Amino acid sequence: MEERGSPDGDLARSLEQGPEGPETPIQVVLRVRPMSAAELRRGQQSVLHCSGTRTLQVSPPGRGPELAFRFGAVLDAARTQEDVFRACGVRRLGELALRGFSCTVFTFGQTGSGKTYTLTGPPPQVGERVPVPPSLAGIMQRTFAWLLDRVQHLGAPVTLRASYLEIYNEQVRDLLSLGSPRPLPVRWNKTQGFYVERLRVVEFRSLEALMELLQIGLSRRRSSAHTLNQASSRSHALLTLYISHQTAQQMPPVDPGAPPVGGKLCFVDLAGSEKVAATGSRGELMLEANSINRSLLALGHCISLLLDPQRKQSHIPFRDSKLTKLLADSLGGRGVTLMVACVSPSAQCLPETLSTLRYASRAQRVTTRPQAPKSAVAKQPQHLETEMLQLQEENRRLQFQLDQMDSKASGLSGARVAWAQRNLYGMLQEFMLENERLRKEKSQLQNSQDLARNEQRILAQQVHALERRLLSASYRHQQGPGLTPPCPCLMAPAPPCHALPPVYSCPCCYICPLCRVPLAHWACLPRERHLPQVLDPEASGGRPPSARPPPWAPPCSPGSAKCPRERSHSDWTQTRVLAEMLMEEEVVPSAPPMPVRPPKTSPGLRGGAGVPNLAQRLEALRDQIGSSLRRGRSQPPCSEGARSPGQVLSPR
Ligand code: ADP
Ligand code: MG
Repeated sequence: MEERGSPDGDLARSLEQGPEGPETPIQVVLRVRPMSAAELRRGQQSVLHCSGTRTLQVSPPGRGPELAFRFGAVLDAARTQEDVFRACGVRRLGELALRGFSCTVFTFGQTGSGKTYTLTGPPPQVGERVPVPPSLAGIMQRTFAWLLDRVQHLGAPVTLRASYLEIYNEQVRDLLSLGSPRPLPVRWNKTQGFYVERLRVVEFRSLEALMELLQIGLSRRRSSAHTLNQASSRSHALLTLYISHQTAQQMPPVDPGAPPVGGKLCFVDLAGSEKVAATGSRGELMLEANSINRSLLALGHCISLLLDPQRKQSHIPFRDSKLTKLLADSLGGRGVTLMVACVSPSAQCLPETLSTLRYASRAQRVTTRPQAPKSAVAKQPQHLETEMLQLQEENRRLQFQLDQMDSKASGLSGARVAWAQRNLYGMLQEFMLENERLRKEKSQLQNSQDLARNEQRILAQQVHALERRLLSASYRHQQGPGLTPPCPCLMAPAPPCHALPPVYSCPCCYICPLCRVPLAHWACLPRERHLPQVLDPEASGGRPPSARPPPWAPPCSPGSAKCPRERSHSDWTQTRVLAEMLMEEEVVPSAPPMPVRPPKTSPGLRGGAGVPNLAQRLEALRDQIGSSLRRGRSQPPCSEGARSPGQVLSPR
């Protein structure tokens, strides 16, 4: 069970709200190394005292009040390496790394304060790869052992790999390179942030293999004898464990040189800050110290800016050094960070100790926003980016095909519209033609109706004229020859003139000279006078015979539009029979126009209702005239006009 207030417990509670939970502060633990034998020999005193598990009291010798610093955990000199490992909370970071988080543990402090010792134990013997005794093994070896044991009990395939580099004089060197270490560039991209290109990443399957890699790196790391440390690290070293829950065969291909994807646990052993003037470094040591201090100064500057809420949202100069580039994600990004601040208890180191304590106090107020991949796909940003590019390309291709289909569809639609328009236009044309045809047919029917009415009038006039003629003949027959025949109009009670249908105003011979009743021209006695006109082409106005009306045709009104109108064959036939009957001679009609298209006219429309009655009357008149003529032939002729009178028919 985690101790209340311990780094593991606080970190766990701060992350329980989810991968994208509230901002999580950098966890800081303080490691106070024991007084060295040399310091004790020089009679130096300790000015640091632990108060409980989380508070450190500083008692400046002879001057100033006591100072108190509170951290996640304070581990004094009495604590063993195992105690530090258990109390610092690195196991929680290991768990988070197994879940995909990017976690960082880094040590910070003055040169000789025990940073390397805390992480990796006592320095290896020069020229030998002798492993550190287990009791003195640092946080890294213990974490390696814990992690491999944890992975073995996961029951799922996990791929573990490691890289080891150092930043020496602002140059990144691969401590696991197959050849001599060469400077490597630090790159940046959107998905991975800063990373070291072409850094060798070695897969390992056992604790022994990982320990071997660690020993290789430690043996290749730059260190020098220093007044404060016989094996002083002259570089910042970063050992990173990459944890992936996929086998090597399942892992998607990545760009050469790019770091693996998945959880990450990075151990950073910083080179110690030092006052060059105080340590008396010269030559290469001074150059190394200046470079170390410069990068540590950039780190401190970034931390200060990250602490400022006004400046945190603005630019943080992580690019000022290789160290801050590679720690950018740990300090202000999505990682989980643990700082182990190391101090010396000696009063001689008090100024640097106070500086480290203040630095660490500020650092634990720096917050990050831990973020782990939400899915297996999200754990593969490189693969995801490739897949996104493929999907975008496919999207463009599909869009292109869709555009082509749209254009085809629009063409098809246009063809349909054109087809519809053509058909509508065709239908409209058909309707117009049909309408025109119906209009012509209607006009023909109207003409036929007019002809029938005219025929009816003509027949009525003929009947009336025949009745008068019949009366006149009957009167001459009774009076005998030599008498002037009276006007036919007086022979019988003529109907009132207005009772007759209107007739055409024609030459006066068609008008009764006595009562001015209009008469058919064949009722006029000197009818021969009209015959030459029929035979004379000149008299017909130059019209062809076929177009000329026969002489018995009723006159038309001058200027009438109907005057030159052609009549149907039946019109002439009926009138011709009547004329022959009346004139007792064969009439050769002019050729009536043959109907081009016999109108579909009902008899009722053509003849009218009065035609049958008139025909009956005509038939009766013909019988009477015939009988009268026969009687006249049977008697001695007295004169041409003496005929036996027949029965006088009263006009109906
Ligand atoms: P740094 O890395 O901070 O420069 P080191 O880790 O190299 O300092 O330690 C300097 C010296 O102090 C080493 O000789 C180391 O053995 C010793 N030392 C540091 N911390 C401890 C400790 N906790 N217990 C015993 N010796 C220590
Ligand atoms: Mg060191």
